[in-house]
Amino acid sequence: MSSMDLTPLSPDLIAELYRVVEPAWPHEGCGFVFEHSTDGVWTVLPTQNRAQLLHEKDPERYPRGGSDWFEPDMKPWIRAVRDGHIPRMIFHSHPEGEAYFSAGDIDSALFRDEEGRLRERHEGVLHLVVSVRQGQAREAALFIFDADTQQFVEIARFDALGQRRAS
Ligand SMILES: [Zn+2]
Repeated sequence: MSSMDLTPLSPDLIAELYRVVEPAWPHEGCGFVFEHSTDGVWTVLPTQNRAQLLHEKDPERYPRGGSDWFEPDMKPWIRAVRDGHIPRMIFHSHPEGEAYFSAGDIDSALFRDEEGRLRERHEGVLHLVVSVRQGQAREAALFIFDADTQQFVEIARFDALGQRRAS
């Protein structure tokens, strides 16, 4: 699993998605990374976090707002899939929080199948969580679901410049 090729996650690409989530502060920002169907290049695809909107419309059904929840608008994802591109990663930020995969993040990423086994909503997709403090990305951690242990495991960490940290 950690043998997965992460070279497409260059410091430039990580820094680019930092620039996507920073302006969302103090709310959670989010987006996707897709592999282009023809040239194989990984591209950042920003999207809206609908959490705050949903919360304001219906606070009883959506008690959490945009500062501690993300609900990505999937329209850019659907368009990219329709165009034949391959989803590789979902990223979001934790404003004034650490780069970790929270209980809420696990809930959003998984569902239970008919046999009661936990499965990914988007199979094989990586998850990146960015710690943003005072509007600035400080650190990010990358997670992947391990079907054998039924858990998310951290496979890489990146610093404020998007450089991969030695683990
Ligand atoms: Zn989260």
